[in-house]
Amino acid sequence: MTRTPENPATEERVIEGVSPVAPGDVPLTAEEYELLRSTVRRIAQDKAAPLAAEIDRTGEFPWSTIQSLGKEGLLSLMLPEDCGGMNGDLVGLCIATEELAKVCASTALTGLAHAVGLMPMMIASNEEQQKRFYSRVTDDNCLTSFALTEPGAGSDAAALTTKAELRGDHYVLNGRKCFITNGSVAALHSVFVRTAPGAGHKAISCLVVEDGTEGVIVGKKEDKLGIRGSDTTELVFENAKVPRENLLGREGEGWRLAMSTLNLSRPAIGAMAVGIAQGALDVAIGYAKDRVQFGRPIADFQGVQFMLAEMATQIEAARSLVYRTAGLLNENKIEAAGKSLATEGRLSAMAKCFASDVAMMVTTDAVQVLGGYGYLKDFPVERMMRDAKITQIFEGTNQIQRLVIARSLLH
Ligand SMILES: Cc1cc2nc3c(=O)[nH]c(=O)nc-3n(C[C@H](O)[C@H](O)[C@H](O)COP(=O)(O)OP(=O)(O)OC[C@H]3O[C@@H](n4cnc5c(N)ncnc54)[C@H](O)[C@@H]3O)c2cc1C
Repeated sequence: MTRTPENPATEERVIEGVSPVAPGDVPLTAEEYELLRSTVRRIAQDKAAPLAAEIDRTGEFPWSTIQSLGKEGLLSLMLPEDCGGMNGDLVGLCIATEELAKVCASTALTGLAHAVGLMPMMIASNEEQQKRFYSRVTDDNCLTSFALTEPGAGSDAAALTTKAELRGDHYVLNGRKCFITNGSVAALHSVFVRTAPGAGHKAISCLVVEDGTEGVIVGKKEDKLGIRGSDTTELVFENAKVPRENLLGREGEGWRLAMSTLNLSRPAIGAMAVGIAQGALDVAIGYAKDRVQFGRPIADFQGVQFMLAEMATQIEAARSLVYRTAGLLNENKIEAAGKSLATEGRLSAMAKCFASDVAMMVTTDAVQVLGGYGYLKDFPVERMMRDAKITQIFEGTNQIQRLVIARSLLH
């Protein structure tokens, strides 16, 4: 997909003291959103859908689909146009994610986690870093990851202990990240580390760790309930030497970068949830029209109709919240995350939390509509139900989202 923007020059972003960069945050036009949707839908139908059940069964990574996304420039969706990207925005990311998630949540998550890995760079990289890092994505279709979680630091991410000591021109990293989406397939990892002694978020920084770095070991590949075609691994650092110039922003700005990124990415997780739910509803509707019991299609029974109506209504409510939030974040520009009512995290948390709860409810009900057949792997709804579950857990569990929402209400 190629884009022909008529947008004005992008504005500066301001993460305390971090030099401004050209962002990909000027909203696309309505026509461009539709072009994006139709491009992604074609890849979803032609490439992702036929592989969805198989990669769920085998846990194989969907390289061929990712290559198709790369060929259309979609791995550079969020990057600035003058760096070879598509100048995309959060609404665009939500559209692409939703379309893929309708048929294959593993593929949707791979693209989404890649966008999340890029976000710290988009917020805080300098020109030299952009040249080095963005070109790996635009020219080589490399994937990225976002590496925050550790075995002892999940919901309490600020408790992370991976250490980065500055020795001359390099940081030397020691520690372990876990649950990293794209951990073994990404070429660039945005890794959150502790650069100063002591606890607390003020000592956290973000380094870009490149593939081939000595001392970076891909650890255990996780065997998961759902999103089984997505890559989830440990990342272990044993005296890994990372060039000093790979620091994003300044030392101590990592926590703010991580939280800004999560504020931006949570609506896209919501879009993934909406996509999964819509995919399950579509299957349930088709099945209800075909399946005959008591001499009539089960779609004739009011009990089934009311379930379908409720599922559709919940999905629309979730979709509205997700896209409203993404739109507001676009308007406020990427750097404003944390600064206004819309972007201080409340709406992002609501979008992620509500949409993921809807996805769990809708996919469970879709299995119910299919009865015993819904419970079999012959139909996709049981996979969708398993895939939906993760949206309530990652990028902050829904308990943590409710904490964020409650804190903002009571502040
Ligand atoms: C498939 C998968 C992919 C992932 N991808 C990534 C990734 O790419 N990058 C990355 O950095 N991380 C990733 N994660 C990690 C994910 O974000 C964490 O698993 C999540 O934040 C929860 O942390 P935890 O698993 O340590 O659970 P814990 O923090 O141990 O939580 C356990 C339970 O306690 C609850 N809880 C904890 N604290 C509170 C509290 N204060 N109040 C109320 N309830 C609380 C939680 O809600 C949860 O129900 C991924 C995880 C999975 C499973």
